Amino acid sequence: MEISMINKTELADWTGPLVSGPIPGPQSAAFLARQEARESNARTYPRHLPIAIAEAAGSFVRDVDGNVFIDFLNGAGVLPFGHNHPELVRVAADQMLVETHGLDFPTPVKDAFIDTQLSMLPVDMQDRMKIHFCGPTGANAVEAAIKLCKTATGRGEVISFQGGFHGSTAAAMALTGLVAPKSHVQNGMPGVHFFPYSYCSQCPLGMSPATCSTNCATFLEHSLKDDLSGIPLPAAVILELVQGEGGSIPATIEFAQRVRAVTRELGIPLIVDEVQTGCGRTGTWFSFEQYGIEPDVIVASKALSGMGLPIALIMYDKAMDVWEPGAHIGTFRGNQLAFATGVEAVKIFQRDDILGNVRRRSEQCFGLLEPLQQHPWVREIRGKGLLVGVELIDPRTEMPAGDLAAEVQSEALNRGLILELGGRDSSVVRLLPPLNVTAEVMETACHILVDCIVRLASMLDVPAP
Ligand code: PMP
Repeated sequence: MEISMINKTELADWTGPLVSGPIPGPQSAAFLARQEARESNARTYPRHLPIAIAEAAGSFVRDVDGNVFIDFLNGAGVLPFGHNHPELVRVAADQMLVETHGLDFPTPVKDAFIDTQLSMLPVDMQDRMKIHFCGPTGANAVEAAIKLCKTATGRGEVISFQGGFHGSTAAAMALTGLVAPKSHVQNGMPGVHFFPYSYCSQCPLGMSPATCSTNCATFLEHSLKDDLSGIPLPAAVILELVQGEGGSIPATIEFAQRVRAVTRELGIPLIVDEVQTGCGRTGTWFSFEQYGIEPDVIVASKALSGMGLPIALIMYDKAMDVWEPGAHIGTFRGNQLAFATGVEAVKIFQRDDILGNVRRRSEQCFGLLEPLQQHPWVREIRGKGLLVGVELIDPRTEMPAGDLAAEVQSEALNRGLILELGGRDSSVVRLLPPLNVTAEVMETACHILVDCIVRLASMLDVPAP
């Protein structure tokens, strides 16, 4: 199959999308057909975003038909500087000539990466935490966190929250709210108990913000202290402070602080899953910094390398470091390229004030989406930093509007914007831009999104005023 070569400089210079024909174009359609014939039925993204990608740079990708898209899927939140940041590409290329794979031997570049990661923690945590490098996925690091907490406490139960996502491997899936993938896989990790999350626009306890006193936290506190609750003292509580796949739902400060307080009081390790929220995505390096809490275990992965090279780790309180040598091994725990680019990525973060850009572009994004605030098909616009979601509901039924969200995703793609869906019934349109996204690209993307929602919803029935 012949694909015209794409000029990288030209792609890096794009400031907006350019779609010149129906999606998928003929070349993408051919790749997708070959994929369908040869790849697993479990594949996901190209089902809803039917393109084959030829090349990418910064905030843009170009498909094999020459269409250019703004990429607000961002490799599922993995690319803080968008695709192929030239400085990181150079660092990776240089490191390639030194060493690529190092198991868990110490190396100069790994040592520098550890220095960098520890230096990004709040000062009082820097001497308190140790690092363990895991197999190179978020899910593997979640598995490691659970094993560590079970070993350190000698307990077996784990508490997770409804709507949470922690990965697709056995234990991580057991901790994940999504029911569908579990329903075909019997005998997952036992001992997981789900509690309600502070999902205030659709409170699982039926409360409204006016009447609520963070009853979700009260319920957890009661259950942990009630000797008839049916749940033995757990080995860990695992929490996302902004649920990502669950629909860009930030926990309330009160909820997070009460979860921290009760876990500390009862000696239960608190694992904060920063796989998606970490590395600046929410406006601070880790999201827990905005909540005035300190976890016992941090799980980090996606954006650590700055350019999508696989790497995952846990950082945990030294007092918990009681597991045996080999307690969580794996071949791919020494990605030297990711260590090298991860060090450089933090330098770029600091030099280019990327956290400042996250805050400015976040404010701009919420401002541009403001016209949707009163729209009958929009329940809530929410998120933190550049982890943003627009939750759609059907005003006739008050049910999640997954069908409309799917149409919005598809129409946005036709107009050159790649978006992700999440949440209940996949009814939350999610924006995960690069953290160095420009004001211009943000404006174009938000205009496309607002226009798609307004136009597509206008074709549906709305209740009589
Ligand atoms: N935790 C969270 C919060 C995530 O968002 C994800 C991935 N979306 C994972 C864990 C799993 O990461 P991975 O897909 O790399 O296994």
